[in-house]
Amino acid sequence: MPAEVLEQAAAEMLDWPDASGRSSGMGVMEMSHRGRAFGEILARAQTDFRSLMAVPENFHILFMQGGGAAQNAIVPLNLCGPSADTQAKADFVVTGGWSAKSLLEAGKYCQPHEAARSAAFRDIPDLATWRLHHGAAYVHLCSNETVHGVEFHTLPDLAALGCDAPLVIDCSSHIASRPLDWSRVGLAYAGAQKNLGPAGLTLVVVREDLLERALPACPSVFCYRELARHDSMVNTPPTFGIYMAGLVFQWLLRQGGIAAMEQRNIAKAQALYAAIDASDLFYNPVDPACRSRMNVPFFLRVPERTDAFLVSAEAAGLLQLKGHKSLGGLRASLYNAMPMEGVQTLISLMREFERTQA
Ligand code: PMP
Repeated sequence: MPAEVLEQAAAEMLDWPDASGRSSGMGVMEMSHRGRAFGEILARAQTDFRSLMAVPENFHILFMQGGGAAQNAIVPLNLCGPSADTQAKADFVVTGGWSAKSLLEAGKYCQPHEAARSAAFRDIPDLATWRLHHGAAYVHLCSNETVHGVEFHTLPDLAALGCDAPLVIDCSSHIASRPLDWSRVGLAYAGAQKNLGPAGLTLVVVREDLLERALPACPSVFCYRELARHDSMVNTPPTFGIYMAGLVFQWLLRQGGIAAMEQRNIAKAQALYAAIDASDLFYNPVDPACRSRMNVPFFLRVPERTDAFLVSAEAAGLLQLKGHKSLGGLRASLYNAMPMEGVQTLISLMREFERTQA
């Protein structure tokens, strides 16, 4: 989270001032979600996100709960109907741990099919090899694999591959780090807790024509059509999360918007990957064509020294560099709020460690 945003939230914790600076006499957590004050917060968050990410008018922006993982069930519940008579098929492109989980969960609601799978989750299979089903309800991929560090730098053009199914993307860990080509997407979802705000909020952007495909069993509070009709308020929405995400959107606008953010993210990622590639001690195994700008898993050629590196990192104020439990090693998260100075401190430490302690 950007420090500026946390400071603003702290200053407004007991008394939220409206757009004209007038005191509301209450904090955001104390507001009725149907009241005027929260209405302003919700409307501004939607408008700012639409303008930031250039979301076309025929897409709805929904604020939901359940995290990215719940969408693995909510997506098939919404896209595999409207009839429950024959089980719909859906195609999955598996490029890491998160898309593998999406495929497994979807199996409870539809017939998932693995259209492509990358070797050891270190690359993206060539589009020409994807086996897409005619008549699939949707094609799912994770556009940035948080654990394995594999990112789609361009989204596939399914129509050009002869596929008319909507593309569904899990963009939880790189949303708002780069522009998104909405002409290639039917639905995008993201848990908020990487680039947008606190855990507990999930953002869903769904194309209007996909709202009428829900299975009869789809719960009302998870039904995109109902959420779109009721402005994300089928039940009480995650009000504080929406408020915090709204402050992040305002911060992003002040930074110059998503194009400016993308340039900074490119510079941060390039600096770190260049340092890793130039090192004899550290390495990153991902195909350079699809290395993630947000999540950089890296490893020591002498794995026994990993813990010593983590101790030095903590002493230098570099926190949470331990790799995901499934891979071990190290992982640097370069989300929007991470400044270039943080990356440079890490690079200096890596050089120093390699020179003196490896
Ligand atoms: N998808 C991706 C790409 C993720 O990174 C995560 C969480 N790290 C999830 C899904 C699951 O999100 P949640 O914990 O919010 O359910």
